[in-house]
Amino acid sequence: MTKKIFRSIVLVAASVLLASLVIILSCFYDYFARLQKQQLKDELYLAAASVEESGVLYLQNLSSESFRLTLVAKNGSVIYDTAVDAKTLEDHTDREEIKEAFETGRGESVRYSSTMLEKTIYCAKRLSDGSVLRISVNRATVGAIALGMVSPVIAVGIGALILSGVLANRLSKRIVAPLNQLDLEHPLENDSYEELSPLLSRINKQRAQISDQLSELRYKTEEFEQITDNMKEGLVLIDRSENVVSINPAAKKIFSATDDCTGKSFLTVDRSRDFNAAIKSAFENGHSEIRSQKDGRTYQFDISRIDSEECSFGAVILAFDITEHENSEKARREFTANVSHELKTPLQGIIGSAELIENGLVKQEDMPRFVGHIRTEAQRLVNLVNDIIRLSQLDEGVSLPKERVDLLAVAKEAARDLDAAAADKKVSLSVEGESVFVDGIKRLLYEIVYNLGENAVKYNVENGNVVISVAAKDKNAVLTVSDSGIGIAPEHQNRIFERFYRVDKSHSKASGGTGLGLSIVKHAVLQHGGKTEVESEPGKGTVIRVILPFAAK
Ligand code: ADP
Repeated sequence: MTKKIFRSIVLVAASVLLASLVIILSCFYDYFARLQKQQLKDELYLAAASVEESGVLYLQNLSSESFRLTLVAKNGSVIYDTAVDAKTLEDHTDREEIKEAFETGRGESVRYSSTMLEKTIYCAKRLSDGSVLRISVNRATVGAIALGMVSPVIAVGIGALILSGVLANRLSKRIVAPLNQLDLEHPLENDSYEELSPLLSRINKQRAQISDQLSELRYKTEEFEQITDNMKEGLVLIDRSENVVSINPAAKKIFSATDDCTGKSFLTVDRSRDFNAAIKSAFENGHSEIRSQKDGRTYQFDISRIDSEECSFGAVILAFDITEHENSEKARREFTANVSHELKTPLQGIIGSAELIENGLVKQEDMPRFVGHIRTEAQRLVNLVNDIIRLSQLDEGVSLPKERVDLLAVAKEAARDLDAAAADKKVSLSVEGESVFVDGIKRLLYEIVYNLGENAVKYNVENGNVVISVAAKDKNAVLTVSDSGIGIAPEHQNRIFERFYRVDKSHSKASGGTGLGLSIVKHAVLQHGGKTEVESEPGKGTVIRVILPFAAK
């Protein structure tokens, strides 16, 4: 800016200087031209008066270096010329000033030399005898004067330029100094040029706007951080060069990334080739997905390119923990396979027996056994289908109305229904304890007790016993089903609640088991917000404890 002001001042000074020179020069030139013309006329009149009186003699005695006088006869021939021999001069009738003087009594004209640097001014007057007296003088033209003045003008110009340069330098610095001292933090508090007031108020207004926008931006950033910090899903933002722009705590945990990974390449977070290929694919195609195991859990990573108007800004990586989903998918697949298998076995048994009977291959005395076999297998199918229906209802979380249920009464009812089975197995079955109320679904609670009691009878030994007890403990109702049966080896204890898991398949089948009883128990207990515990020793017996929260009074 200083340079610009300096240049402008110097330019203005030079232009003013030049313009002044031109104006002064033309004024002077004009003034002296008029003066000279007047003088020329006066000289002409004086000379004319003298020629009228003394004739050519006057001119012959005249010696003037600056003026030239010419006397032209009526016919245009030159009678006398003070500068040149008249005989050498041609006819003058066609000279403009002479022609005019012959016609009007007076004449004037100007003629330029071939170089245009000099001009001759002519004035003519008709004398009383009809001849014309002409006076002329040479004068330098403006161009010639200007040429003559080149060196002094250059000298003055250089001087003036130096002077204006020095002054301009000082002036520009003085003009700029207050601008450099402006306090833009507090624009309205500046005591500077009045002309700057609108600018300063605009700056002040813009500062206020910027500050508002900054706080809004800060608010939005905080809001974004709040949201991403509390997200269960991992979120990573990367730029076009695959550098981490933002990473939320969940993502840091998933990738085991350090706090300083922001700003660094995503490779410092995950180096796997598959992941990097997925990022490249997202940049190319807009979206990509990848599943990967981290710390024993399965994650699905959704990578989406972020497109701004013309180009892509980067990509967002969202990580979902799909371990449970994967597990339940796996369980569902296994369940379907198991169900098909479990259904097929009794059906094949039924078909096989029926075919033998149909083809007359079964002796009459064996007939009851075959029919009994068909009935048992059909019963097994019915049990299986019932258990599957029950489980799928529990899976779907069908919400049945809850009521205040006396667990002891339910236990007694289930035990009554198991009496026959217990008697068959020569197992004593008893119920003991106190009335404890739970908020629950009576049918499901019945099934819990029935399935546990049924197992306790089924996997018991001859003359064994089963005790179903109900007690209250620490705001919970505790249902315990203990038996003196075959027991469960420790390695099976965690798995017996899985669908279709049986410790001894043949024993389970022989006793009409479906392998779903304990799965139903587990689900039903969970629906009541309770938990199940197993204690067992092979050959000694099993204790299964169900802990259910009390009903609200
Ligand atoms: P099942 O229809 O085969 O009885 P369950 O889901 O009820 O299926 O039980 C799963 C398996 O757990 C049984 O096959 C059995 O091997 C074992 N089990 C359950 N209860 C007992 C128990 N009281 N004593 C010994 N083993 C048991």
